[in-house]
Amino acid sequence: MFERYTEKARRAIFFARYEASQFGSPFIETEHLLLGVLREYKRLVSTLPVGAVVLVRKQIAALAPPRPAIATSVDLPISKASGRVLALAAEEAEGLGHRYIGCQHILLGLLREEDSISAKILRHFGATAEQVRKKFWQTSEHESSAPSRVLPPSYRGRHSRSTNLIKLRGAIWNADYVREAVRRCCEVKFHWTRTTWKPSDAVVERKTGKISLNFSLAEDSAEFELVKDGWKKDLCAICRWELFEAEDDHGTGFTNGRDWLCTECYEKFWDRPDFIAGSFGNMT
Ligand SMILES: [Zn+2]
Repeated sequence: MFERYTEKARRAIFFARYEASQFGSPFIETEHLLLGVLREYKRLVSTLPVGAVVLVRKQIAALAPPRPAIATSVDLPISKASGRVLALAAEEAEGLGHRYIGCQHILLGLLREEDSISAKILRHFGATAEQVRKKFWQTSEHESSAPSRVLPPSYRGRHSRSTNLIKLRGAIWNADYVREAVRRCCEVKFHWTRTTWKPSDAVVERKTGKISLNFSLAEDSAEFELVKDGWKKDLCAICRWELFEAEDDHGTGFTNGRDWLCTECYEKFWDRPDFIAGSFGNMT
């Protein structure tokens, strides 16, 4: 199940298992995943106050008192809550168009499993999923930790040498990530047009509030509801810039009817085979 995980994410889970055994827990709980992520995700630790990791350990010990250690040879299973965290991590990766699952995605999963010990501790440090997404996604690190084998061979061969950075809407992105996103957009021969963003009707699941554009769901009116203008925003397929009904640059983008690009990404990357081929220089 861990094929899509980066090396660091796999090590984080390995350490989580070790932590669980040291805490004498029969399952790998969310707090052990948190310790694993803290161990592997140095960038995260660097943003926390000095001594935070020691404090996290203390808080865990207070919330889930340690029992006699279990031999590390015992293959401890993942708890239900941790399973949900990993599913949420996969969902985060999906939502961001990442083919791999890294420590950042697991961290987001930990934050979103709101009743867990890990989320309580992270909230204590003032962390929110929204913040983490913003802070860590716009850096170069997230793609550089991706295992190369999740990328198609053509991509790997041509671009592995590049560590260039690209500035998009004030944020710094890894050029390899951007190139891959542009390549994905160019793959399908869609016709792109400049359009004012307008909300569209959507189907909303009554119980969860989750939105879908699969209108056939609306036939099940007990579970789903067709909401006029229920689709309220899209994200640029490259830089995640939000497109919604607005007078400014959020209100206009380019679309193929399915995906959206912000004006900056379209103008920078469209019709730039040199960029896709990797011969394009550093754009920061
Ligand atoms: Zn963009």
